[in-house]
Amino acid sequence: MTDPALEPRLRQLLTVFLEENKKLNLSAFRTEEQCWIGNILDSLAALELPFLSRLLPHPPSPSPNGGGGAEGVRELLDLGTGGGFPLLPLAIALPDVRFTGLDSVQKKVDAVNRMIGTLALPNARCVCGRAEELGRSDAYRERFDVVTSRAVSDVNVLLEYASPFVKPGGRVVLWKSVTIDQELHDSLLARAELSCHLIHQHVYELPGDWGKRQLLVFEKSSPLSGKYPRDIGVPKKDPLK
Ligand code: SAH
Repeated sequence: MTDPALEPRLRQLLTVFLEENKKLNLSAFRTEEQCWIGNILDSLAALELPFLSRLLPHPPSPSPNGGGGAEGVRELLDLGTGGGFPLLPLAIALPDVRFTGLDSVQKKVDAVNRMIGTLALPNARCVCGRAEELGRSDAYRERFDVVTSRAVSDVNVLLEYASPFVKPGGRVVLWKSVTIDQELHDSLLARAELSCHLIHQHVYELPGDWGKRQLLVFEKSSPLSGKYPRDIGVPKKDPLK
C-alpha cells in the first residue's frame, strides 16, 4: 500500500503522535496497531487516487489512466485536521505539495505544529480557526487545489465548509464509510448550490478486520456565491437540504 522508502518517516510520525496523544485526547486509537492502520494507512488511502498518486516522488506507474484533472496540485488544505489526519501522513508522502491543516481547537493545532517541528516537515503548517470564518478571508478563499476532510461532519455540512477554500476546477476529498446512501441523498441540494459535483467514489480496504471505506471526490465547477459559507454554526445547525 505504501512506498517502503516512506516507512521510517511514517513510523517516526507514529511514535511522535502516540506521545502527544498521551497528553491530549487527539484520537481514540491509542495502540500502535490501531493508530498505524486507523490513522496512518487510512490517511494514505488518498494516494490511491490517480490525481494524487502522480504527485508522489516515485509514482507507482509512469502515467496512471483515469481520474485525471486537478493538474498542478500545489496547495492542499486539511479541514478539521484534529490530531493531524490525514494532514501529516500525506505531507510526508507528498513533499512537493504545500499542506495547511485547519482546526478550531487551539490545543490540537499546537500539538500538530509541535509534531511538524519534530518531524521537520517544511511543507506543512497548521492554523487555528473556524472554517466558516477563514473561508471568507482573502488569504484562504479559493486558494487551494484540494481540500481533504476526515470524520468532521455530514457531506452537506462539509461541502459548505470546504468549497469556499477550493479554486474553481479544484477538488474536495472526503473520507467516509461505504454505507452513506442517505447522507449522499441529503447532499443533493448542497452539491448543486455549491457547484461541487461528485466525480468519483473510491472504495478501499484496510488490513485485518478494519474493512472497506471510501473516498468521495467532488469537483468544484465554478466560483462560489458570496452567500457561502454562512455564519459560524449555521451550516451545521441548518444544513443545505
Ligand atoms: N480529521 C481528524 C479529526 C476529526 S475530529 C481525524 O480524522 O482524526 C473533527 C475535528 O474537526 C475536530 O478537531 C474539530 O475541532 C474540527 N472542526 C469541526 N468543525 C470545525 C469547523 N467548523 N472549523 C474548523 N474545525 C472544525
